[in-house]
Amino acid sequence: MRDVVVFVEHVAGQPRRVSFEIATKAKELATALGGTVHALVLGKNASAAAEQLKAYPVDTIHVSEDPDIDAFLVDPSVDYLEAAAKAVGPALVLVPFTMIGRDLGSRLAARLDAGQAADVTDVKVDGGKVVCLSPKLGGTVITGCAFKGDYGIAAIRPNSFKAVPGAGAGTIVQLEKPAGKTYRIAVEDEVVEAAGELGVEEASTVVSGGRGMGGPEPFKTILKDLADTLGGSVGASRAAVDAGWIGHGHQVGQTGKTISPNLYIAVGISGAIQHKVGMRTASTIVAINKDGTVPIGEFADLLVVGDLFAIVPELTKAIRAAHT
Ligand SMILES: Cc1cc2nc3c(=O)[nH]c(=O)nc-3n(C[C@H](O)[C@H](O)[C@H](O)COP(=O)(O)OP(=O)(O)OC[C@H]3O[C@@H](n4cnc5c(N)ncnc54)[C@H](O)[C@@H]3O)c2cc1C
Repeated sequence: MRDVVVFVEHVAGQPRRVSFEIATKAKELATALGGTVHALVLGKNASAAAEQLKAYPVDTIHVSEDPDIDAFLVDPSVDYLEAAAKAVGPALVLVPFTMIGRDLGSRLAARLDAGQAADVTDVKVDGGKVVCLSPKLGGTVITGCAFKGDYGIAAIRPNSFKAVPGAGAGTIVQLEKPAGKTYRIAVEDEVVEAAGELGVEEASTVVSGGRGMGGPEPFKTILKDLADTLGGSVGASRAAVDAGWIGHGHQVGQTGKTISPNLYIAVGISGAIQHKVGMRTASTIVAINKDGTVPIGEFADLLVVGDLFAIVPELTKAIRAAHT
């Protein structure tokens, strides 16, 4: 028997989508291992995040709003995770493969003297052993690794699994502060930038542009207009990013973000395999391309053939008209 511990990353009480994805997967793994799922929700507004987590198949939701916990200071969170993992252990710990999750997972691995598998895109239980699959060498090789020790940490790439609400006991438990912990650093101030669009990995609609956009301007005008009209975010192919038309944070694909939106609109993108691996799990894929034989047509749900500079503004106009 082995329990699964999940670290729930949230922003001001709103869990990141990856947290729900991991919670869903955790239940499947815990069932196969004969254990239960424990989720840790830490920091300011953790209780609000915990309430949302109740809709997912988690057995025990451990909460602490200890003011020492801060998203930008990983040590306090590692202390709580370490204590929880040891309390239920030997456990499998799932963290998101995000900036915070990577930092946290590595520190936790050192504390537990455990192995960590990074950038994991799938986890299986094979003959009682946990096996983590992750792409290597630019996605040309998929490795499977099992943990040697009792504990194991898997850092899961966002959008690797679907988040599916489901029944769990959802019992909320207040965590006690790990004994003897004092911290020598504290965050004095936090400057929040003006609210912008969601990152491509969180947005439910992504409108991406490729080399066919011809330059940086159309990203800021016609593409952004369409994305804003749909309440979505702007993505890009690597060709557009490499040309300096838009930042790397928007890149979708093997060396960019893996995303799983409800709707993906690829504008002036040919659909190379390295792009496809980053967006193939989108629920609906629409491509706009002047070439009717382009590879993306083979896996898009709809290929609109024509000049993007004519189609995209008209599409935006039509959507706006339909909403007024
Ligand atoms: C190791 C490695 C990693 C990579 N990682 C990534 C990655 O993460 N993400 C990624 O995207 N790529 C990645 N690539 C690059 C990838 O192989 C392709 O080169 C890239 O995706 C092509 O981008 P594109 O589709 O925008 O450009 P192109 O393939 O040049 O396609 C441009 C498309 O625009 C269309 N077009 C042109 N003008 C118009 C118009 N006016 N109206 C309508 N359509 C028009 C054309 O018909 C064409 O289909 C990687 C490559 C390697 C080797």
